[in-house]
Amino acid sequence: MFSLTDASLYVAALDLWIDSLRERERCYVSHGHADHAREHGTVVTSVNSARVCRARFSRAVKYEEHGFNEPWSVGDHRLTLFPAGHVLGSSQLLIEGAGGAFVYTGDFKLARSYTCEPPEVKKCDVLLMECTFGRPQYVFPPRDEIEERIVGFATRALAGGCAPVFFAYSLGKAQEVLAILTRAGVPVTAHGAVHALARVYERAGVGLGAYEKYDARTYDGTRALIWPPSGRTRPKAAHNRSLRTAMLTGWALDPGAAQRYGVDEMIALSDHADFPSLLSYIERAEPKKVWLNHGRPDFVWHLRRLGVDAAYLEANQQLALF
Ligand SMILES: [Zn+2]
Repeated sequence: MFSLTDASLYVAALDLWIDSLRERERCYVSHGHADHAREHGTVVTSVNSARVCRARFSRAVKYEEHGFNEPWSVGDHRLTLFPAGHVLGSSQLLIEGAGGAFVYTGDFKLARSYTCEPPEVKKCDVLLMECTFGRPQYVFPPRDEIEERIVGFATRALAGGCAPVFFAYSLGKAQEVLAILTRAGVPVTAHGAVHALARVYERAGVGLGAYEKYDARTYDGTRALIWPPSGRTRPKAAHNRSLRTAMLTGWALDPGAAQRYGVDEMIALSDHADFPSLLSYIERAEPKKVWLNHGRPDFVWHLRRLGVDAAYLEANQQLALF
């Protein structure tokens, strides 16, 4: 039995919570973003997500770490973590039992990146997937185009005597833009929170190039800045250089996004799958049943029109799986 109980996913047959936002005795954590990771008694997660959690959690917890594609058994079931391509360490969970194969995607993307483990898609009978960008207008530009826009924004700002600031989540997006900029030879300074997690990426073997840690006393505006969008403090104009700001998010495709975010430019660099990628995932996984969570419930209708047996997971719904 699989259920959305107490606003959290729970697999009764394994006595396992999945990405629960309430602290549990034992819980699988797909990745280190705050809307998925909590300080549970025991955190079941990938090796690299454990590194991320150790850097982010305020207290020590127990970790049950698993390598990608290294299955383990719980009773009659076989569990396997495999890469989701969302941020460093992000995993999907495959549960196999007599009743079939079930996959929970967590947050994922299929687009390439410099900083994530390459995503995989496994065939399954039942798929529970996120659908953050589950509307047809969300088609992200090709990756090369996004990189050109990021590098172009930085070089134009610097040439014009301005300091380019990229707002990007401190886990994942920030390290990706860092890698894009340093590969293009753009000098980069990272906010402290971004810098701390960049070190975790490097310890996991991800090369990010050369960058500096932001210091308000020494920052002179001649380097691109990477800043968390949620940061309470905003970077200050330095040495009479005004700021040029860009927000990196899939929501860049929404009309009026720049005004809403209060930035000069929006660039659609996303850690999530866009609409075509969501469909392509389902095509490759060939599930008999698709459950959706974390996103647009109306994605269900797009899938049903395509002949996919899909439903949105409602609170307190019990699903017989095994
Ligand atoms: Zn996430």
